[in-house]
Amino acid sequence: MESQQRDYWNPWLETLDPARLKQIELKNFRKYVAYAMEHSGLYRQKLAGINPEDIKTMEDVRKLPLTDKEDLRLAQLGEKRSIYGDVLGVDPSEVSDFHQTSGTTGRPVYVPESYESWQWRVEVWSHILWMAGFRETDRVFVPFGYNVYVAFWEGHYAAEKVGCEVVPGGALDTKGRISKMIETRSTALMNTPTYGLHMAEVAGDMGIDPGAIGIRKMLCAGEPLADATRRLLERTWEAEVYDHIGGTEPCAWAAMCKDRNGMHIMEPFFLVEVLDVNDLSTEVGPGELGTVVVTPLGRRSFPLVRFNTKDLARKPMESGCSCGRTSVKIARIEGRTDHLLKIRGVLFTPVAVEECLRDEFPAVAEFEIAVRRTGIMDEVALKVETCEDMGSGACAELRGRIFERLKHRTNLTFGIEVVRPGELPRYQLKASRFKDLREEQK
Ligand SMILES: [Zn+2]
Repeated sequence: MESQQRDYWNPWLETLDPARLKQIELKNFRKYVAYAMEHSGLYRQKLAGINPEDIKTMEDVRKLPLTDKEDLRLAQLGEKRSIYGDVLGVDPSEVSDFHQTSGTTGRPVYVPESYESWQWRVEVWSHILWMAGFRETDRVFVPFGYNVYVAFWEGHYAAEKVGCEVVPGGALDTKGRISKMIETRSTALMNTPTYGLHMAEVAGDMGIDPGAIGIRKMLCAGEPLADATRRLLERTWEAEVYDHIGGTEPCAWAAMCKDRNGMHIMEPFFLVEVLDVNDLSTEVGPGELGTVVVTPLGRRSFPLVRFNTKDLARKPMESGCSCGRTSVKIARIEGRTDHLLKIRGVLFTPVAVEECLRDEFPAVAEFEIAVRRTGIMDEVALKVETCEDMGSGACAELRGRIFERLKHRTNLTFGIEVVRPGELPRYQLKASRFKDLREEQK
């Protein structure tokens, strides 16, 4: 019995009846919505008119609006009392840790942690590490300086919590890290897949067989991990290699067990939905591909209700796994809904336009972007609607300024048209502001 208990970090929670798990998630969702509405300016506005007590089923959950990364960015733009803007869900004096997103698709989002919210993240990660077999007897090497990025901080604190010993390997070069791993007789590693392969290569150059270093467990973070790469890492390091899914904003919400076939959703810490990509208002059927929407049910410092991760995955078929955990399993992430576009050789994301307009042009009320193909050239057309009627001189002036700023920020030239107040449609979903017409034109 005791050895079976040792398989789980929280035996009661991890083997709970699936229907009971769902019940807990819905109850906590209701409480969480109430908290967000009371403590975060963003949700006070976004969820105005909603009574949390009315949320009783998943259908009720789906009536609530989604939260996009853009919402978070926009809530932090401009002069605000706090650098976290209207998303902050606790008093500024309670914030104990600063983190931010990587900013690869636009301006980074600042993510505040209170001590309590940070402990919540660490607890989720403790489940992840325990599930991957990290134990008190392990010495975990982390070959990075963690900087402002959250994943390895979470991993570090969670490794301590489950009883491991942690060796922080920042401020060393790769050879120095390999030597340090050998010197400290490290048994486990947390790294990115790319760096795992790179370290193995450098070890080889040093005349060291990576498999002989003694690393037997590896948890990957920071990048998607293809199955083929995972198996290659396992062979090279002679270690069990584990993956997880997550992000800076919602935390890690799914992870691999010993089975290493799909990932357990971290229930009941998260409410996870897989929605139809086109209308985002219905859930797809089991096995069908959709957009993953995540609510981290304990993040008070940074409330996030129905966060649209824009990751594509298949809705889980059923619960149950050889490891005995009752949470549902998700296969893997199959792509992103907001892929970067390549226009005339320049990488472009519509978010960049939104940020520029929201950041610098308060006179703009609404906008619409369309990409077309004219001959062999791609053209980006932008319509901006002003808040108030403007004379033709003022319109031309505004057009000129937007043109210059967008060229500066995106390296692209836009065809810009200024339209009168009320001319552009109003959408529920931001994605509708952008149209890529190139496919239709083929
Ligand atoms: Zn399992």
